[in-house]
Amino acid sequence: MNSRRNFIKLSAWGTTLLTGLYPAGKAFAGTLGKGAANKPIVISTWNHGMPANDAAWKVLSGNGSALDAVEAGVRVPEADPEVRTVGYGGFPDREGKVTLDACIMDKDSNCGSVAFLQHIKHPISVARKVMEETPHVMLVGEGALDFALSQGFKKEKLLTPASEKDWKNWLKESKYKPVINIENHDTIGMLAMDANGDLAGACTTSGAAFKMHGRVGDSPIIGAGLFVDNEVGAATATGLGEAVMRMVGSHLVVELMRQGNSPQDACRLAVERIIAKQKDVKDLQVGFIALNKQGEYGGYCIHKGFDYAVRDKATNKLIDSKYKL
Ligand code: ASP
Repeated sequence: MNSRRNFIKLSAWGTTLLTGLYPAGKAFAGTLGKGAANKPIVISTWNHGMPANDAAWKVLSGNGSALDAVEAGVRVPEADPEVRTVGYGGFPDREGKVTLDACIMDKDSNCGSVAFLQHIKHPISVARKVMEETPHVMLVGEGALDFALSQGFKKEKLLTPASEKDWKNWLKESKYKPVINIENHDTIGMLAMDANGDLAGACTTSGAAFKMHGRVGDSPIIGAGLFVDNEVGAATATGLGEAVMRMVGSHLVVELMRQGNSPQDACRLAVERIIAKQKDVKDLQVGFIALNKQGEYGGYCIHKGFDYAVRDKATNKLIDSKYKL
């Protein structure tokens, strides 16, 4: 996605754009759930969050549920072959296979997830079916594919000529080295609160480009890539999944909000925890976004370059995330 690369180069560090309602370093001191909440609202990771938020907003502004909104929202990049890190057109693994991960979580802590799923364009909708139609939370690989087919999903070729070409180029050197903020891993994580004040979240990805066959990252793991607690708030992650999984990152962000931190501070504290536990974060990007029951939001990442999209009654914009290094 050249546009995103250009955006990263051009984007300025504008403090006024960067926060939710609380400045960094200041803990949220109010009582969660009191006062007039900013709702409905939807936030999502990266610039592909803008068109995704538009789709979610259509649902939210028509009094639809946060759950329907996040599913409709993330289906947009899943179907877009130009988004090379999610769904159809996503980068393949090192064997040239596109394998997808996704999860979804609702206001009642119901959740569904699929991982290592091939041939299905909308893993988020399969994850929702896992949540609603099975007694389980997670299905993977062939079992997830069989389940999807049994639910009427179509088997499709997900490897586009552009992604195949990039994979063949990659094969010449076959280096497995993450490059931060370059378009080899940009999950969409989306969080919404509906007019009722209920929260939901969705997260979907093709994972790290040219990963080992069978590798699954944080994105389909409830608590790591996504977590929703309707009493407190919701969080989702992007970046190198291995680092997020080690800290169960999104759950950590929600628990930090439960302790009274603003979404912005909760994301920062979780990033600081990851930095403290990793030996070297030079080549490591992780970003979190979070939303609380008041409709306040925030984002934080390790390195400059992560952005997230926000849509509410007053706002429709892409925000440069605050960063640590
Ligand atoms: N977290 C995803 C993964 O590790 C990729 C990303 O968000 O950048 O699979």
